Amino acid sequence: MSEKKLGIIGGGQLGSMLSQAAKKLNIKTIVYTDDKDAPAQNFCDEFIVADYKEKNKILEFVSKVDIITFEFENIPFETLNEMSKLKKVLPKPSVNRLIQHRLAEKDFINKLNIRTTRYVSIEKKSDLNTLEDLLPGILKTTTMGYDGKGQYPIKKIEDLELLNIDFSKGYILEKLVKLKKEISVIVTRFGINNFEIYEPIENTHQEQILKHSKIPAEISQKILHQSKDWAMLIAEELKYIGTLCVEFFIDRNDNLYVNEIAPRVHNSGHLTINAYNVSQFENHIRAVCSLDQISLKKISNAEMINLIGNQILPYRQDFKLKTNQFFFDYKKKEIKNKRKMGHVTTLI
Ligand code: ADP
Ligand code: MG
Repeated sequence: MSEKKLGIIGGGQLGSMLSQAAKKLNIKTIVYTDDKDAPAQNFCDEFIVADYKEKNKILEFVSKVDIITFEFENIPFETLNEMSKLKKVLPKPSVNRLIQHRLAEKDFINKLNIRTTRYVSIEKKSDLNTLEDLLPGILKTTTMGYDGKGQYPIKKIEDLELLNIDFSKGYILEKLVKLKKEISVIVTRFGINNFEIYEPIENTHQEQILKHSKIPAEISQKILHQSKDWAMLIAEELKYIGTLCVEFFIDRNDNLYVNEIAPRVHNSGHLTINAYNVSQFENHIRAVCSLDQISLKKISNAEMINLIGNQILPYRQDFKLKTNQFFFDYKKKEIKNKRKMGHVTTLI
């Protein structure tokens, strides 16, 4: 039997880790990215660099693969849709279209009777004048945001004057939740009501960028069950195939809210590489390539620290890792402020 070839759109650390997981399963990977320096070139079998809208290159990529998946959500919908006419794209492009747009995403979640933060669509500056009860809040671009990019905390309407925001883009205003904790739940859906689900992961952010993740999350039984149930319901309703992550807020009264859905593997799940028998990456590959499903077993509790910007440097110079520590260098060409450069997982 010939080897399966998996096309991965996006060449960042998630694409790298998907490629590594695929290799373990004897699946060849072809990464398509618009970044010639993308780190996944160090891990995949073949690497194509072109704009996400370049027809010829898209066709070349599609002709080389059996199945297509992606490592980030902000791929032009048309590109995914065109690809899906020729080869299977999983998760399906309509999932991506929904989640690319914060407003559509939140409306969808609320329709499932799942709580989100309170929010309202903002199309022009004057829309904000009547929204005192959503303040303090966060103004977020409806599309293309990640790692806190495109977000503006607003305490009072006057703050807007200083911010100089480009209202030709769409925004939502979200009420600020008084956070006790943030958690995420990662689930891989293989088919109708068929899941492998990881336990909730507790996350800490610095400057809106994930800094630290750990299992077990210190949460009540109520939150444990509700977060897993909601994550599975969302995956089921999306008819999702592959690994998906739901980010949650917990407020000071122990109420759970969905913050956002990531239709892909997720940074908070890096610890699953060492803490479980099957990682979120391997599960994603197994689901999208229709391979055998293996029951998840936790091997150990764990914590993960993201190495952001210069924080990678001491680890690159012969840092003495303990036997329960695992260091990952994403091999990004350039160190940048606020750029995720690597991570360390410690089994505890
Ligand atoms: P991104 O797409 O950049 O990940 P998020 O909406 O997840 O954007 O926001 C990033 C982080 O900012 C969250 O994980 C949380 O720490 C903080 N944050 C965002 N929205 C809110 C909110 N409404 N209330 C409280 N904290 C928030
Ligand atoms: Mg987020």
